[in-house]
Amino acid sequence: APLRHYNFSAGPAVLPESVLEEAGRNLMSLGDTGVGIMEHSHRGKPFVAIIERAEALIRKIANVPDGYSVLFLQGGASLQFAMCPMNFLPDGGTADYLMTGSWSKKAGKEAKLFGKVHTACSSEATNFDRIPSPAETTYSDDPAYVHFTSNNTIFGTQFPTEPTPPGDAFLVCDASSDIFSRPVDVSKYGLLYAGAQKNLGPSGVTLAILRNDLLERKCREVPAMLDYKTYVEGQSLYNTPPTFGIYVLMLVLEWIEKEGGLSAIGERNEAKATKLYDYLDSSKLFKPTAAKGSRSLMNVCFVTGNEETDAAFIKYADERGLKTLKGHRSVGGMRASLYNAFPPAGVDKLIEAMQEFESTHA
Ligand code: PMP
Repeated sequence: APLRHYNFSAGPAVLPESVLEEAGRNLMSLGDTGVGIMEHSHRGKPFVAIIERAEALIRKIANVPDGYSVLFLQGGASLQFAMCPMNFLPDGGTADYLMTGSWSKKAGKEAKLFGKVHTACSSEATNFDRIPSPAETTYSDDPAYVHFTSNNTIFGTQFPTEPTPPGDAFLVCDASSDIFSRPVDVSKYGLLYAGAQKNLGPSGVTLAILRNDLLERKCREVPAMLDYKTYVEGQSLYNTPPTFGIYVLMLVLEWIEKEGGLSAIGERNEAKATKLYDYLDSSKLFKPTAAKGSRSLMNVCFVTGNEETDAAFIKYADERGLKTLKGHRSVGGMRASLYNAFPPAGVDKLIEAMQEFESTHA
């Protein structure tokens, strides 16, 4: 077997080994078709069966209610930052954004191109170390929608539960870094989107789940490729979709189902992250940066308080096969991303390395 390190990357990130092996086996020939998975037409029977199966698995795994569409888009979550307001934020209208990190700010910046943006809450004053409570969140009078980032990849914070939008505003969620990491109540959302490259598959595919009646709230003419309606009506096959990415996504969804679905995955994620936070809370050297009650189960950020010691630990860990632990520059220190496919043994290995390092550096 090829050498495989423990990969703590924030994204693109670790995928299940069984998925990588299965994808590898089908590169030269998808099943017995004699044509590789990347070489099949997106209109041919084999690929249409794959995209339909991917959609069916999403509906089953996330218990998607009737009246919602499952869409496979491109342009990453970043294009959704623009596509959502382009479709749903009228000129002169207001959308409310919960500012809990760099990605929420980027989303809000794009929305300003189309209408007004009201900051419903922000934790920027404390370097986004927490999720503001509902009591600290103030909505505008009549927002078109409320946008939030369920998990803040850079700062390692995560909403314990989703916010409740006022009036008939609908809820929009960027779930790029915690999609399908725990059970989700899709009925609470108008639009839920995520780049695939953390919990779902390779980069290049963006999953969106959209409540169909919202298409009636489209507020301006937009190019076909930026119109949700195009993807709803064309079953995400208006143009050539990222076929290989959708195939791998389908394999990841099969893996999620085999693992016991979102509640089993959620329990495993909770166990992995809790083990690491418990160690960090007891450590004399390492400290978690996110406030208790806001801590992400996906991205665990921690520091020693000394940049040189941080760098020394990152090197120490790297030499032991614990890769990509360097934190984002806006937080510094370390970030251990523990997405669905990250093995529990990798957490044990990291804690062991920290204990050893601590005994010589504390
Ligand atoms: N939102 C969040 C929460 C992210 O973590 C990222 C990527 N790290 C993005 C948006 C941007 O995603 P993309 O690169 O797919 O545009």
